[in-house]
Amino acid sequence: MSESIVSFVPQVLEYEDPAEVASKLSRYLSTHKVIGTELKNHPNAPFKRFAPGPNYREILSCGDEFNQVEGTNNNHIDIFSERTVFHGYNNGLDEVLCPKCQQNLIGTNWAETMDRWAKGGSGLFQCENCGNIAPISAYRFSSESQFRWAFSNVGISFYNWPPTFTEDFLTRIAGILESPVVIVHAHL
Ligand SMILES: [Zn+2]
Repeated sequence: MSESIVSFVPQVLEYEDPAEVASKLSRYLSTHKVIGTELKNHPNAPFKRFAPGPNYREILSCGDEFNQVEGTNNNHIDIFSERTVFHGYNNGLDEVLCPKCQQNLIGTNWAETMDRWAKGGSGLFQCENCGNIAPISAYRFSSESQFRWAFSNVGISFYNWPPTFTEDFLTRIAGILESPVVIVHAHL
């Protein structure tokens, strides 16, 4: 079965206390009954997994697609609190844009920085064009079709939900995360 995943990821590469930020997210969503019970999960997983709650429609804006969110196994919500690369799987990548000079660095060694950071090392990446050094999350990873990748130790993923999340929801989670949010669409 193919799966679609929509993730919301702050542009903050690392929070000092990612577990606290992740629990603020889950508190907000569970107070509004958008997420329900916590589901069984591998003990070493970098996220907590939840079933949709009875009010999941509250964060969606479009009617006909609501019936796609059913059951508890195919429409779960994962809230991350460890370093994670949120990538597009089958949605490719065409651009890695420097935040300073806008050069496309797709042909450079950004993947080494990504792997080093994911394993616990530094996430600083230097632009070979202008010399700018910035966290890898400050670079714009995207495809021509506007699919994005993102990097953080906090994030939230919705499995097989319609992609009609409301502006209000986006504004609220950006407020909780204290950061602009990148939307990552993935297909497995
Ligand atoms: Zn640059």
